[in-house]
Amino acid sequence: MPDLDLDAVLSAVSAASRVAKRAAAERADLADLLKDDRSPVTVADLAVQVAVTAAMRAAGVPHSDRLVGEEGSDSLDAGGAKMLAQIIRLAGDALVDADLQTAAPTTEAAVRELLDAGGLDPASEDRDVFWSLDPIDGTKGFLRGQQFALALGLVEGDAPIIGFLGCPHLPLHATDDYGAADPVGSIYVGVVGEGAWAGTTDATDMTSLDSIAVSPSPPGDRVRVCLSYEKAHGDQDRTSAALEATGVSTTPIRIDSQCKYAMVASGRADLYLRLAREGYREKSWDHAGGCAVVRAAGGVVESATGEPLRIDGRWVDAPGGIIVRTPAITVPSD
Ligand code: AMP
Ligand code: MG
Repeated sequence: MPDLDLDAVLSAVSAASRVAKRAAAERADLADLLKDDRSPVTVADLAVQVAVTAAMRAAGVPHSDRLVGEEGSDSLDAGGAKMLAQIIRLAGDALVDADLQTAAPTTEAAVRELLDAGGLDPASEDRDVFWSLDPIDGTKGFLRGQQFALALGLVEGDAPIIGFLGCPHLPLHATDDYGAADPVGSIYVGVVGEGAWAGTTDATDMTSLDSIAVSPSPPGDRVRVCLSYEKAHGDQDRTSAALEATGVSTTPIRIDSQCKYAMVASGRADLYLRLAREGYREKSWDHAGGCAVVRAAGGVVESATGEPLRIDGRWVDAPGGIIVRTPAITVPSD
């Protein structure tokens, strides 16, 4: 494992998660727009990427000069002055919360530079180790007031080795209704080969987290499965066939974002199926953080063809889709 101050990254992720939670509560007042691919982006997406990048740099976290981030400064062009002012305010709040106020950007140029640091292409820039960041994964869940996640993974070669998931609306313990926003939220850290831990979004250091692990077996032999809330994010026919072949009889838990990885890592779900539609290519920031947390908790993250999931720079190599599971169950291939 690289020499890394986990507390410094955890503190950045937890502070940004708390600010994202406040932003979700005031989302009606935040500037938002559609990116060129028609996916939504909000001020919170941009502010969290700015805050996490600035915090990691200020804390001297290795490899934080350039990273693979979902957002870029092009979104600022369409958002205008209102968007910029809100980004500076929210990112500043997170950095004050992380005790890094001197790192807070105050000018448009500084915000642009921090966003563009997320444009790393690891292959062309010859980086074997890099961070992959999704500041607000599940923006659609964020806009509905439901689940979303701040996801950050450290990738070595093609394997995520350290992951952080800030889940501002996900309770720390099992509940019957994951559609509601938990008042506190939860945070997850995984170091592959060493362990995985979880706590509330108030956590500022690793000692405030408790160890977690995937479920040793589905309770009562009833496999609990997580699926995307957005049905368009998966092939519903292949998903139904795979659930039937696996013998799943429970009602799927539909949750936005990498909160689904947190559910498997913490033993609250046994399986997360993401069988892509034909032609969709998964992005590295949608999986790097979650994959590391699940693997660190003893779980399996693989392609639908049974190969370990591989990160390929800004993309994911997972033919046919992604299966996330406790080793106690298997999914017959289609
Ligand atoms: P989830 O809430 O788990 O479905 O994941 C949200 C992520 O799905 C977003 O961050 C998008 O990058 C990604 N996404 C967008 N369109 C698709 C699609 N057609 N198939 C799969 N994933 C998608
Ligand atoms: Mg995402």
